[in-house]
Amino acid sequence: MANYDLAIIGGGLNGVSVARDAAGRGLRVILLEQGDLGRAASSASSRLIHGDLGLLERRALLRVRAALAERDLWLRIAPHLVRPMRFAIPAHSDERPSWLLRSGLWLYDRLASSSRLPGSATVDVTHHPIGNALKRPFGTAFEYSDCVVDDSRLVIANAVDAAERGATIRTGARCVRADRLEVWRLAVVDRGRRQVITARALANASGAWTASVAETILRMPPPRAGVVQISQIVVRRLFDTDNVYVFQNVDRRLIFAIPYERDFTLIGTVGHAFKGDPAAVSMAAADVAYLCDAANRYLRERVEPSDVIRTISGANMVMNPLSKRVARDGTMMFDARGGKAPLLTIFGGDVTTSRLRAERAVSKLTLFYPMSPRWTAKTPLPGGDFAWPRFDAEVDRARERWRFLSEREAQRLVGAYGSRLADVLGGARDRADLGPAFGPELTGTEVRYLMTKEWARFPDDILWRRSKLGLTMPAGDRAALAAFMVKAV
Ligand SMILES: Cc1cc2nc3c(=O)[nH]c(=O)nc-3n(C[C@H](O)[C@H](O)[C@H](O)COP(=O)(O)OP(=O)(O)OC[C@H]3O[C@@H](n4cnc5c(N)ncnc54)[C@H](O)[C@@H]3O)c2cc1C
Repeated sequence: MANYDLAIIGGGLNGVSVARDAAGRGLRVILLEQGDLGRAASSASSRLIHGDLGLLERRALLRVRAALAERDLWLRIAPHLVRPMRFAIPAHSDERPSWLLRSGLWLYDRLASSSRLPGSATVDVTHHPIGNALKRPFGTAFEYSDCVVDDSRLVIANAVDAAERGATIRTGARCVRADRLEVWRLAVVDRGRRQVITARALANASGAWTASVAETILRMPPPRAGVVQISQIVVRRLFDTDNVYVFQNVDRRLIFAIPYERDFTLIGTVGHAFKGDPAAVSMAAADVAYLCDAANRYLRERVEPSDVIRTISGANMVMNPLSKRVARDGTMMFDARGGKAPLLTIFGGDVTTSRLRAERAVSKLTLFYPMSPRWTAKTPLPGGDFAWPRFDAEVDRARERWRFLSEREAQRLVGAYGSRLADVLGGARDRADLGPAFGPELTGTEVRYLMTKEWARFPDDILWRRSKLGLTMPAGDRAALAAFMVKAV
């Protein structure tokens, strides 16, 4: 008998979503991630949970409607990680005419007709806070609702839920060979040690590595797909309002400027076909300049390449890279021909529809194993068992219980752990109970929690994926954090 019903290669959003779904349906699951969870494309997204206006413009209405339904579902199952925002598109006289934007958003509202989020509106920016950040000539903007997510914490929350439902999650574990016999026989290198495991079915969810995993590890023909690189920049906060700005660029692309970790703004995206090692993806100077120019067409405060604090790039597989046609929303292939052990291949697609994609993928296995019905649409992710309009009330509750927390700390902690904050802070009565401090916000207690419950092994796992505290942590504190983590192992 095989050790597992399903082995998954890849701990990005697709891999952990499949792990969560399958473990909750009763399968014995193992997930293998060669580095840290979400370390590749899944922590490099532009963080949007949306119906996607680009798809609306290309008339992919059914896809927009499905994504909008998922958007609202995320608010119900992950209210700590997903935040509703008002998005603002300034009308630009050289770009799409106002009537087109207005009617497009009217349609967007209709496609989200059961949503509780407010619908679109036309705003006179000369008398509205949205206008404060914009250059003078802009008179009108169009507002609508969509959401923003903490993408890397979404990965972790899925993995935590999968593990609590029985899945084995192994980070730092690279699958180096997979033989397809009656069952799958996988060779795994984990911290220098080679080990063999067996599984009845295999999912290749290795993102930009999907083709090379197929060719070199599974020794099968790779899917005929290309790799695209998408990049973004982080600059200091450029506007005071809690809006996402959507800028129509000269090439008709929509560029988003998103409030990021309170003190920063994320501007993106720019994309290209990519060749090379996905682990070494980086942003070209010309792409940085492109995003600065796009923002400078609209924003009063100029953004120069020298203002860029961090660039974020990710690579992923898509079936028709950068084609003008509507790309498929991710790809899922299933192969069990001739009674062979089943193989699922799943890559690409939006963050917004990742839950649905995983649900459909795992459902393919119902032909082979008895399993319980679909469940992920109705069950909150860990920490998400409160109604999203109560987020601020949860923050207040946290400050009542842990009186030493500032408003800013409580916002971050509730945004990361939701109703599970007590598991992190426990019975701490004052700051001293939380152990050493690293930078203005991270404490020894939180670090220990992340190491024991969320697979963090190295400082970057905490500073850039479990949180974004790397943006504000001084170099000396990083060194202290590294030393603390070595001792805490
Ligand atoms: C820059 C960027 C911006 C995006 N923005 C958005 C957005 O705003 N909204 C939206 O909805 N979607 C967005 N997307 C799409 C979405 O983020 C991705 O499609 C999704 O995160 C991909 O997840 P994945 O699991 O397929 O890949 P990845 O996250 O890349 O995960 C694959 C994992 O497989 C691991 N792996 C590879 N080989 C092995 C092996 N042999 N053994 C073990 N592990 C292995 C890798 O280490 C990696 O962690 C964006 C994508 C990118 C790249």
